[in-house]
Amino acid sequence: MLRIILKKGREVPVLRGHPWIFSGALEEIDGNADAVGVADVFDWEKHWIARGLFSPKSQIRLRLLTWQKEEIDGDFFFRRISRSLSIRESILSKVTNAYRIVNGEGDFLPGLIVDRYDEFLVCQFFTAGMDRFKPLIVDSLSSLLAVKGIFERSEGRVRDEEGIEPSVGVLAGEPPPELIAIEENGFKFVIDLRRGQKTGFFLDQRDNRAFLSAIARDKKVLNCFSYSGAFSVYALGGGAKEVVSLDSSRPALELAERNLALNGFEVSGSELLKGDAFTYLKECDSAFDIIVLDPPSLARKRSDVDGAAGGYKFLNLHALRHVRPGGLLLTFSCSQHLSIDLFQKVVFGAAVDAGRKVTILKRLGHPIDHPVSLHHPEGEYLKGLVLRVLD
Ligand code: SAH
Repeated sequence: MLRIILKKGREVPVLRGHPWIFSGALEEIDGNADAVGVADVFDWEKHWIARGLFSPKSQIRLRLLTWQKEEIDGDFFFRRISRSLSIRESILSKVTNAYRIVNGEGDFLPGLIVDRYDEFLVCQFFTAGMDRFKPLIVDSLSSLLAVKGIFERSEGRVRDEEGIEPSVGVLAGEPPPELIAIEENGFKFVIDLRRGQKTGFFLDQRDNRAFLSAIARDKKVLNCFSYSGAFSVYALGGGAKEVVSLDSSRPALELAERNLALNGFEVSGSELLKGDAFTYLKECDSAFDIIVLDPPSLARKRSDVDGAAGGYKFLNLHALRHVRPGGLLLTFSCSQHLSIDLFQKVVFGAAVDAGRKVTILKRLGHPIDHPVSLHHPEGEYLKGLVLRVLD
């Protein structure tokens, strides 16, 4: 097994349980430095500290799996996945049949995402190390869950940085149907597992959708960046009198229309708008009781943060202009690199420039199937504010 010796002092975060070791922390690599795989980590005095997965091409050279001398084998993955599953099943099985089973670092399985959509699972292997364990992980999932099929959607920037190709396709069982139907809090949704965004649905907004439903009665709502219309369905389900959904993607709007119809809501063309939210918010002359602003991540890399802050400010400023006095703005950022403090400052700047007085009623975040490791605060990507626009 590969042995990694850290530079003096660089063991401190590792001993505190942080799962990432960057390339600059490595003093010595004992073994093949080009090989992906399990590695043992030692401090500068060669005391064993932890065990993890080595990625020779990534800046994050090691992602740690355990601080105990346990084998990284099929049993290991079975134990970890069972632990993740138990908390979800006990809390969520009455609420929904679609939830995240493994949330990467938040479940002490860095590089792995597993989402359940009723009888199908969707997996994402983001790192070279985790990719190697695909067969063992698929075996564990198959023995723990009676599902019809396991599909892989390992794509995106992280795999590029790891030097591994995208990998999409069936891992076990049947291929998923074109659209799969799920239920969440009594609402129905169809999901495109193969081509939809993320693994097909924004599972992470479940509790925030429920919050919207609880406050939507008789309200006129704008759902900006609506994707498959999940916030819109919940708003109408909560008795909203009108909901306008806006997205730049035609396939997303088609899914939204289907989802609205599936829940008994027929909407007119003016309530499903294809367009750029930046332009719409700047030029629109309507006022709303509630606006939901859930843009895609505007900062994908740390170096994007300044530009992203400008984008978030623009969106929030123009959204605030269209909230009726006494109305609400539910504003989100899913950028891991933008801290909650910075996000709040950006929104404050937007309120000042919009000339509105605003209070924070509530902060929103991840649901229980998206746990954040206390040892890895970087995992807390989704942040939301419920703002009341006073005058
Ligand atoms: N709120 C959604 C998730 C939003 S994801 C939910 O809970 O399901 C972000 C969405 O923004 C995507 O559907 C994407 O198509 C859309 N989008 C990206 N850039 C956009 C833009 N400039 N204007 C409008 N929509 C945009």
